[in-house]
Amino acid sequence: MEASSTLTFMTAAVRRVGRGTLDLILPPRCLACGEQVADPQALCSSCWSKLDFITAPFCAACGLPFEHDAGAGALCAACLARPPRYDRARAVFRYGDESRGMILSFKHADRTDAAIAFAAWMARAGRELLQDADLIAPVPLHYRRLVWRRYNQAALLALRLGQAADRPVMVDALKRARATVSQAGLGARDRKRNLAGAIAANAARAAAIKGKRVLLIDDVLTTGATVSACARALRKAGAAGVDVLTLSRVVRAQVLD
Ligand SMILES: [Zn+2]
Ligand SMILES: [Zn+2]
Repeated sequence: MEASSTLTFMTAAVRRVGRGTLDLILPPRCLACGEQVADPQALCSSCWSKLDFITAPFCAACGLPFEHDAGAGALCAACLARPPRYDRARAVFRYGDESRGMILSFKHADRTDAAIAFAAWMARAGRELLQDADLIAPVPLHYRRLVWRRYNQAALLALRLGQAADRPVMVDALKRARATVSQAGLGARDRKRNLAGAIAANAARAAAIKGKRVLLIDDVLTTGATVSACARALRKAGAAGVDVLTLSRVVRAQVLD
């Protein structure tokens, strides 16, 4: 046996032993319900079947799923009335009772390993967007909340997605210009007011953003106010285009005002 193949063989053996030891200490748990599963970073079959994955047809701009196929390039009523600041938004699944717990434990608890699985799903749902993307950037988190939460879940998803899709990631393309109160519980109008001027492109990164198509990453798309504020800031910095890819998306009956 040649030296190199011996080394490969030994590395594989060590990896097997290492993995076995790790599994013995920490058996893999379902990302959503915590039930024991066969593979790490996976869902049990019951949780998998309950997730509401978003598939075509959907709004060409915001990605809102349609009941019926309205043809290629069709827009939802909200996007027709007021085109979003970003070009296209896509999400893996609907935000709902089944996905809430999984996303919250990723946000607040210690299932950061879930980012590996989430990024793989996002790479699939956002294939078209990734093809056109020059760089990937996460929605920023103010440092005070970063300390409280310990990490920026959007940055973690962006980094894993960059690895999965072989695209450069710029974690500091955007920054919060000032602290915002939590968006949770605020209506669309208050969210917009809360965010106005709160997000800016990083001046030190302006040259690298100029002329680039940026793919913005976040965990959940709610009203779209946050990603719109990000898209505005990126365009102001000279980005050629801005698409949005999230793990989850709130889908509710549209209210026209
Ligand atoms: Zn489960
Ligand atoms: Zn739309």
